[in-house]
Amino acid sequence: MTNASLTRRHFLAAAAATGAAAAATPALAASSQNAAAPAKWDLTVDVVVCGAGGAGLMAACQVYDKKGSVVVFDKSYSPYESATRMCGGLYTAYGSAIQKREKAHDSWQEFAHDIMDYGSYMSLKEPVELFAKHSGEAFDWLENHGLAPHHLEKYAGHSNLRAIRQESYQGKDYIDVLVKEIKNRKIRIYEGTPLTRIFFDQKKNTVTGIEATNIDTGKKIRVRAKRGVIMATGGITGTPESLDFWVPSVAGKGVQIGCSANDGSALRVACRDVGTPLSHMQYIASYPCGVVISGRRGPYCRFWYFTNAGGILINKNGKRFVSEKEGICHITPHLAGNPGGYHIVFMDKKIYDETRKHYKVGALIGLPSWNDERLEEEFKLGKNFFRANTLEEFCKQSGVDLKGLKEQLEKWNKDVEAKNDSQFGRTDMKTKIDMNGPFYGIKMYPWNNLSCGGFRVTDHLQVLGWDLKPVKGLYAAGETVAGVHGAFYCGGNACGFAHTSGYMAGQIVMGRTDV
Ligand SMILES: Cc1cc2nc3c(=O)[nH]c(=O)nc-3n(C[C@H](O)[C@H](O)[C@H](O)COP(=O)(O)OP(=O)(O)OC[C@H]3O[C@@H](n4cnc5c(N)ncnc54)[C@H](O)[C@@H]3O)c2cc1C
Repeated sequence: MTNASLTRRHFLAAAAATGAAAAATPALAASSQNAAAPAKWDLTVDVVVCGAGGAGLMAACQVYDKKGSVVVFDKSYSPYESATRMCGGLYTAYGSAIQKREKAHDSWQEFAHDIMDYGSYMSLKEPVELFAKHSGEAFDWLENHGLAPHHLEKYAGHSNLRAIRQESYQGKDYIDVLVKEIKNRKIRIYEGTPLTRIFFDQKKNTVTGIEATNIDTGKKIRVRAKRGVIMATGGITGTPESLDFWVPSVAGKGVQIGCSANDGSALRVACRDVGTPLSHMQYIASYPCGVVISGRRGPYCRFWYFTNAGGILINKNGKRFVSEKEGICHITPHLAGNPGGYHIVFMDKKIYDETRKHYKVGALIGLPSWNDERLEEEFKLGKNFFRANTLEEFCKQSGVDLKGLKEQLEKWNKDVEAKNDSQFGRTDMKTKIDMNGPFYGIKMYPWNNLSCGGFRVTDHLQVLGWDLKPVKGLYAAGETVAGVHGAFYCGGNACGFAHTSGYMAGQIVMGRTDV
């Protein structure tokens, strides 16, 4: 036995001891023997893609267009169950045709800098630079294949105009394009058939293929991948259980949302069979805006539309606790210090009406299915959405401390007059809050929607093995890639990265080298 194999085995034992194996599904536990190849392959293709979200479908189309044979395995029963489908349709990109049309100044270096800076310099350079350089190219591919209407918008954390928003506020637009293109190319998606094993030739440090198992029939299929396997199996925020398992610091808290298949089981398969180390697993994107409607479920409130018009963020004591202009994910850690772990966006009727003039309910409350009637129901219920004629009534409904709120409003209004936020240095001091009301408020907890950890990759998206050397034939794309966002996710970068990394992985595995 070589020193190398000894070390790898020790690594695997350590991974099991730290709990990675403890949550393995029965399908995973049953096939824990590593092998370079099965007795017989059922199918041979150039590339196997695992995962049929934005990253996986984009990768499969690129493989096909570069004349490769490709199949996709997906744990869900439809690409419309993916996180990409659920997303708010914000996609950041440098060098896109839309940026050029709007003559927006930008450079890939500034984009990469913004990502690193927002993520507290905890990002990894390889995926960040690949993303920053090629995101426009990937977005243009979607646009050129019929993407629904979109526009550029300014977004917190991005110093230049590079956030592209779907008019629908829905990631469904991306999946519509990709599903159409997958069908046009007659690429087969094996739905309800998750990855259960990776075949790995340890001597050659090469992945040779995979096994996937149909959830309903238990039938296994073993596929040889001549050029490579692309892991595009999403993040770990699929269920409250998977989120709490991987990130115990959030256990039991806030709203959890994501594709329910995304539980990290594919990461565990790779850890077990190839020995790939995982990185950045403690970081998740947590927006300070989850409205807890039922258990850990609920929509989210794009509170910044209200604060842009003059609203403020308060805690249960009636006090502001942060500058409302702070980056969205940067606000979340402050919630832990608030009594009850929540906050409220607070405003008078003038500010509320001004915001409503510009945004539909579906845009304000990140659920397109919500309309005016649904919102009205919530106001009447008075549990998370508060509306009151007087401050006394508002505090009675919401549980906010009346004396604290009165003091805070007096201070805020004086500061607005002086154009100086003496508490937190906010600079857009637009309008005083009318102490006579009526008043509006929406109560929010952390909203955990995507994860930032997974495989470490090279600048060609090749997965690093136990010895931090690239594993031949193993690539990663989308939310399975570690270190894109560092410690904090900045809006639009996850959807942007998913499609860009899928686009690049598909081309790289087929021979593209100019990254
Ligand atoms: C509600 C919500 C809103 C969001 N809004 C935005 C936004 O506006 N902008 C932004 O940048 N980001 C946003 N995000 C994050 C972003 O959507 C995702 O990070 C991105 O779409 C991930 O793409 P993906 O292809 O990696 O994963 P997915 O789209 O989730 O695809 C992964 C696929 O892998 C499959 N899978 C899982 N396990 C296995 C397995 N073992 N074997 C085979 N297949 C498997 C799943 O079935 C799934 O279809 C949002 C996320 C959510 C949940």
